[in-house]
Amino acid sequence: MTEPDSPAGPRMRAWMEKAFPICRSISGDGVRRTLDLLETALPSGVTLERTGVPSGTEVFDWTINDEWNVREAWIAGPDGGRVADLAAHTLHLVSYSTPVHTQLPLDELLPHLHSLPEHPDWIPYRTSYYHRDWGFCLPHSHLEALPPGDYEVFVDSTLEPGELVYGEVVLPGRSADEVVISSHVCHPSLANDNLSGLAVSLELIDRISRLEERRFTYRFLFAPGTIGSLAWLSRQGDRLSRIRHGLVLTGLGGGGPLVYKQTRRGDRLVDEAAAHVVLARGGEVRRYSPYGYDERQFNAVGFDLPVGRLTRTPHGEYPEYHTSADNLAFVGDAELEEAVRAIVEVVEVLEGDRTFVNLSPYGEPQLGRRGLYPTMGGKSASDEVMAMLWTLGYSDGETSLLRIAQESGLPFADVHRAAMALAGADLLGPVADEADIR
Ligand code: ZN
Repeated sequence: MTEPDSPAGPRMRAWMEKAFPICRSISGDGVRRTLDLLETALPSGVTLERTGVPSGTEVFDWTINDEWNVREAWIAGPDGGRVADLAAHTLHLVSYSTPVHTQLPLDELLPHLHSLPEHPDWIPYRTSYYHRDWGFCLPHSHLEALPPGDYEVFVDSTLEPGELVYGEVVLPGRSADEVVISSHVCHPSLANDNLSGLAVSLELIDRISRLEERRFTYRFLFAPGTIGSLAWLSRQGDRLSRIRHGLVLTGLGGGGPLVYKQTRRGDRLVDEAAAHVVLARGGEVRRYSPYGYDERQFNAVGFDLPVGRLTRTPHGEYPEYHTSADNLAFVGDAELEEAVRAIVEVVEVLEGDRTFVNLSPYGEPQLGRRGLYPTMGGKSASDEVMAMLWTLGYSDGETSLLRIAQESGLPFADVHRAAMALAGADLLGPVADEADIR
């Protein structure tokens, strides 16, 4: 794929800086504003389509909640100073807090306050989507220093029938078969767990839109976690059968190597492709578990979709997770860029994997006669020639190029290039095109 003109890391960071202050939740204007920001960053000619699902709509075992919006939320201490203020940090307010304007003593306020004693300077992230209540989050050091007295609490929020909104960007390919790439849009000011997935997706849209030809149609889904992906799934019907491969993206800018979480079955092409790429980059492959991000909806037995997940250190395994320490300084440009490169490599495998049959199978064909072999003999075979020998040696009509790459230890791109050269010299013939997609 061609590289864009400017470095990707600073571009992704600049986008995250704009999106970071927005108070997002599973519904409300924060999601709409985030979709607006995504839309303005799309390459020309690429559009974002929005779908609104009205509150009260049943999606499988769930019901779309009332829409939540908040304008102002703060606690003022006995001296009138702000103890916690949404305007200072979106994590200060428990997401989906009900409206309130009251005065109450410290002992009645405390049950509504959340902090992290083990990290006394960080603000935790808390939500109360399905239990109507209000609450605030603050550093434990601040909480412990609260003096007795009367506190004024003000939450100017609304919980009213509205809609849940998700966005989709589609890059059409030669086939209607789809690769779905999904990232959640529901977290407030959290950089790694949320914004990194969106920024990487934006960059991927740019790269994939530049492909001269696409075998698959690429669908990028930007939906609130759980309820948003379920709402999307509920509206697909027969179209779900078009999904050939998928990835859930999040947590790609923090520390640690890349971690690929397999699909539930663990034997899909995306599993093999991601393992090939991630392991070569020193990353890790893990088995499926029914806990995590939206991969658990896509892989639910009723859908059984081939959707894996790519992160770095997964959720819950780093202390900054779901706290104010997951900020823009926590994500690295180099980490984001490597994630983009890795996913581009996975896409190259999905696009390019084929199974060929050796058309000159009785011994080694003369590559030199066909201009494929360096004319000077005697030296050790170059990587290029080795890739051709491996490809010829294993193209029995059943072994895919990806399997040959795995067997040989060569990068998929080298094996693919060799196969194209050999096919161009009529030494390889196709077995199947789309039919070999697993
Ligand atoms: Zn999260």
